[in-house]
Amino acid sequence: DSYGHGTGDQLIRAVAAGLAVLIPQGAVLARIGGDEFAIAFLSDGENAAALQLAEQILDFLVEPLEIGRRVVVVGASIGIAMSPLGAVGREELVRRSDLAMYKAKEAGRARMMLYDPSMDADREQRNALELDLRMAIESGDLTLAYQPLIDASTHAMTGVEALVRWNRPGHGPVSPELFIPIAETSGLIESLGLFVLRKACETAKQWPELNVSVNVSPGQFRNPAFTDYVRYVLKQTEIEADRITLEITEGYMIQNPQRTRQSIERLKGLGVKVALDDFGSGFSSIGYLRQFGFDRIKIDRSLVMGVNDKRQREMLQATVALARSLDIPVTAEGIETEEQAIAMRLFGCDCLQGYWFAKPVTSDLITEMLQE
Ligand code: C2E
Ligand code: CA
Ligand code: CA
Ligand code: CA
Repeated sequence: DSYGHGTGDQLIRAVAAGLAVLIPQGAVLARIGGDEFAIAFLSDGENAAALQLAEQILDFLVEPLEIGRRVVVVGASIGIAMSPLGAVGREELVRRSDLAMYKAKEAGRARMMLYDPSMDADREQRNALELDLRMAIESGDLTLAYQPLIDASTHAMTGVEALVRWNRPGHGPVSPELFIPIAETSGLIESLGLFVLRKACETAKQWPELNVSVNVSPGQFRNPAFTDYVRYVLKQTEIEADRITLEITEGYMIQNPQRTRQSIERLKGLGVKVALDDFGSGFSSIGYLRQFGFDRIKIDRSLVMGVNDKRQREMLQATVALARSLDIPVTAEGIETEEQAIAMRLFGCDCLQGYWFAKPVTSDLITEMLQE
């Protein structure tokens, strides 16, 4: 399964031509989906031939392809399944290699994976989780926790970040790091995201003095109708748009700079604020940042953690300085010690978030904290 910039027919043909050259004599090469290919061949009983071929394919795709006047980079995720001749049906072999291919994708793409039976067990668990998640969304069993955002100089709470929580019946709490990606790939992210946004906006009305941040996942952001449903929820809940901040992650922005820019413009047109989340976890560049009009940047926890290490501290300082040079206010997330809080304030962050100040809590507790 290939991925890259533009999967037009020309590109598919160029990839197919390359594969045709690489495959052993007597092998069958088929295009089995938009950008998915299957190669079937007989070998002498060892895995080596298939692994070697997979490696050659990955090597071949490392080189940029020239398509007309464009140079494009393509990668591939490869799944391999093998069986003694006749022991496993053709369809089962294709199913197994497909499963292995998805595992390769999940493991970070541009790699190969050999099918093994535990992958079937994983798949079943995942399906069960997906089913439960679907029910949780439909029956409103998801809840939101709110983590205080703290003014770096006064230490007053100026806002909260809404974080989704799921207590899976019979299993206990499941981390959003686990179920958000599943919601993404199973088409549930839309209804999950809508629930989160609506609930956060409704709850925000109790706290006129706070700004409420809501995480938006790539699957939501990618939807051209996203702006429409934000507008709809704002109207429905009658919340002042400028009290809502939508957080989007750096990863998505880098993959789709053009679309990100357009979406941000439209969202800002509604009056909401847009923040860049997890900054510093990927390949940020100042060139990018300038054009997007982010209202805020959130420094990733992985960077904040490095404050005691000389080299990491320099990186951290440079990253904050970069954001500040664009006049964009900066939040430091994942503050766990007083030392980190002091350092991040010193580096120029105007807002702090982390267990040192407060963990994510119920909305009732936030209300109590405001009354103190
Ligand atoms: P995030 O947006 O970076 O959210 C911050 C995460 O760091 C939260 O984890 C929060 O509980 C945790 N955290 C805050 N302070 C500290 C600290 O001092 N130390 C440590 N170790 N962790 C801290 P959580 O709630 O498990 O969420 C994980 C990720 O899941 C979030 O990362 C976000 O990407 C995603 N997520 C959570 N809620 C939602 C949601 O409603 N919608 C979407 N699309 N994604 C969500
Ligand atoms: Ca693909
Ligand atoms: Ca966030
Ligand atoms: Ca973050």
